[in-house]
Order: sequence, then structure tokens, then C-alpha cells
Amino acid sequence: MGGAQKRTIKNILQLSSEFLAEQGVESPRLDAEVLLADLLNTERIKLYVNFDYPLNQQELDAYRQRIRERARGKPVSYLTGRREFMSLELIVEEGVLIPRPETEELVEVVLDFCRSQNWEQPKIVDVGTGSGAILVSLLHYLPEARGVGIDISTLALEVARKNLERFELKNRAGLLEGDLLKPLLPEKEGQLDLIISNPPYIPESEISRLPRNVRQEPREALAAGADGLKIYRRLIPQACRLLRQGGMLALEIGHDQSQRVKEILNQTDGSDSSDCWQDIKLRRDGGGRERIILALKGSEDDGD
Ligand code: GLN
Repeated sequence: MGGAQKRTIKNILQLSSEFLAEQGVESPRLDAEVLLADLLNTERIKLYVNFDYPLNQQELDAYRQRIRERARGKPVSYLTGRREFMSLELIVEEGVLIPRPETEELVEVVLDFCRSQNWEQPKIVDVGTGSGAILVSLLHYLPEARGVGIDISTLALEVARKNLERFELKNRAGLLEGDLLKPLLPEKEGQLDLIISNPPYIPESEISRLPRNVRQEPREALAAGADGLKIYRRLIPQACRLLRQGGMLALEIGHDQSQRVKEILNQTDGSDSSDCWQDIKLRRDGGGRERIILALKGSEDDGD
């Protein structure tokens, strides 16, 4: 009797969140609840309804294991194997970046733009697709669009493939393994409508200062050379070649990188050695930080 009482959802949650707090986990109660709800295949709210339900030994062991791993810094999404992004429940696994809310804002901005263009079957490329978060959500919400996701990581592409399958997008999407946009060059020059990327943009020297759970995410998805701009320097000229006139490049950037990324954009020559980008716009994220940069490839009749 006493044993069962100690094992109630209420008690277990209490003990686990205290333990996680002691171990320096940032949101101990929330994490304890999310991990338990996932383990029991239920929703967080239902835990409260079943506060007095005792866990059986198997559930208890499995839960303790999860709590131990969380205490050592493993991100919740790696433990549950999923993450919500743009209201879609994506599969995530160790070895891919966990999609972030800032990236949802990138997708929102681009969805607005695409809808305003009345493009027929726009061709979209997501560079460094990782879990496929951007590609999957854009194609899900733009039923006419076709897309390609590229990544240098085989593991990431496996996860992206699962997500494309999960949302029945395989007939409109392809995946390519390779370095940035190289797999499309030169064949697709001037043919794409939209190139989007949330590339790595953190300076190497800052990686060791990232929170413990972020450091468990793949380094190659985070770090980008001494100044964090290494990828933009290569990606931006490639994107200029591949977009058609009037096409759009949409990038997520670090909060203090907008001026430097703008400079890189402004140094990109188009095919006739005039400026490639005609219109460059900056958008802030929900936290008020500059986070998104949009660059429109000049149209032929611009005259300059
Ligand atoms: N495009 C993926 C995302 O936004 C992965 C990005 C990355 O690995 N840097 O989640």
C-alpha cells in the first residue's frame, strides 16, 4: 500500500523535478512532465487527472532512466524522439539539430511571401535540411510547391526522409546528399524560386559556452568558423546562381550578424557582374532580435 502511494504520478513528478532542478536543468517540472507523458503515451494534462495513479515497476524503471539522461544534459526531444514545429510533430534523433521556434518564424515569413507571389508550383530548396523541418513545413502548407532538401549528413537525411514520409510529401520532395548547393550546380542554374536555409552560424569559440543540452546537438549543425559567417560566404553566391530572376533567398542569421551578412550579399555579383540582390530585408524574431534576412534576386527589367 505504502509502496504504491510513493509511486503515484504526483509523487514521481515531484521527486523527479526536484532532482532535475538540483542537476541544473532549466525547466525541471516541465521536462519531468513531458518525459512522463511521452512514456505513458498520454498528454501532459492527463497526468494531472491521474495524479494518484501508481506507476508499475517497468514504467518506473524506464522513467528513471529518462530522468537520469535528462539530468546529464540530453535534450528532451532526443529522449522523446519528437518535436513540434509549425504545429507538425516531427521526428528528431540524435545527430540532427532540434528545430527551434526562431526557425518557425523564418518559415512563417517565407510562407507569407510565397502566398503573395501566386507562384504556380514554386521550386524550393532547403539547404542543410537537418530533420527536414523547413522543407516539410513549407511543402505541407504550400500544397502546390515542390522541394529539395540538401544535407551533408547522411544521418540527417534519414531523419528528413522519415519526416517527408510521415507527412506524405515524398511525391513532391527529394533529398540530396552534398555540400550546400553543389549537388544542383550547374544544372539547375537560374531555375529555383526559393532558397531557404537555417545554416550553422555560431562562431567556434562560442560553442563551449553554449548550454549543456545544446552541446549535445551536432557540432556541424551549429558551428561555422571563427566568425560564424563561413557558410553564408559560400552559400550566398551559389544561391545567386541558382535562383531565377525575382527568386528569393531566405536565411536565418545570428542576432548580431545582420550587417555582416548584408555586406556579403552586397558583394555578390550577378551573371552580368551587376549586383545580384536588389532588395534586402531584415526581420526580427519574437525576442526582438534580428534573425531573418530576405534577399530578392534582381529582375531583368530593373535596368541597373
Ligand atoms: N534546417 C534545419 C532546422 O532548421 C537544420 C539546421 C541546422 O542543422 N543548422 O532545424
